[in-house]
Amino acid sequence: MVELPKSIKNLIAAFERLPGIGPKSASRLVFYLLNTPESYVAEMAKSLLAIKKEVKICKECFSVCEGEICSICEDEKRNKKIICVVERAIDVMAIENIGGYKGVYHVLGGVVNPLEHVSPDDLKIDELINRIEDNMEIILATNPTMEGEATALYIKKKIENLGKKNIKISRIGSGLPMGADLEYADQATLSRAMDGRREI
Ligand SMILES: [Zn+2]
Repeated sequence: MVELPKSIKNLIAAFERLPGIGPKSASRLVFYLLNTPESYVAEMAKSLLAIKKEVKICKECFSVCEGEICSICEDEKRNKKIICVVERAIDVMAIENIGGYKGVYHVLGGVVNPLEHVSPDDLKIDELINRIEDNMEIILATNPTMEGEATALYIKKKIENLGKKNIKISRIGSGLPMGADLEYADQATLSRAMDGRREI
């Protein structure tokens, strides 16, 4: 087997760490980049650094943004009385892409997972509780995995203990297979799951 130059090996190793990229795809990407103009690679490197330097976390919902507050929280047409609770900012994108949702979001930053030492304190759960007022609908849209379900139930109990008036707590689910990931669900399935949310 030929020994590859070190810089090629390093980049292949970096790509291999990305989700869904195996050794073959990683090599293919690196050799593709080798044959592209330097300007493209420079632009790409700049964009990569920019997501670390310029992307901030919204103070209100903890999704990604460039200023203090994200464009969804800033939008006055959004119904602040409906909060859709998701695991990650990418889930916000998935739900936004189906269109039709007029409420706002709350990004937890993950799910409770004892095996990976993620406790409720590691997530933005208290921040969610602080956003809850009377007459609200909270849609628990964590993934339909064991951890996602457990986290949804944990949050439901916390909200109920608050004793706020007229709170509707619902859970998305219908149509999403158990163990599925919101981010990979097709738009029709996700749309059905949002429309078919049931009160819990
Ligand atoms: Zn926001």
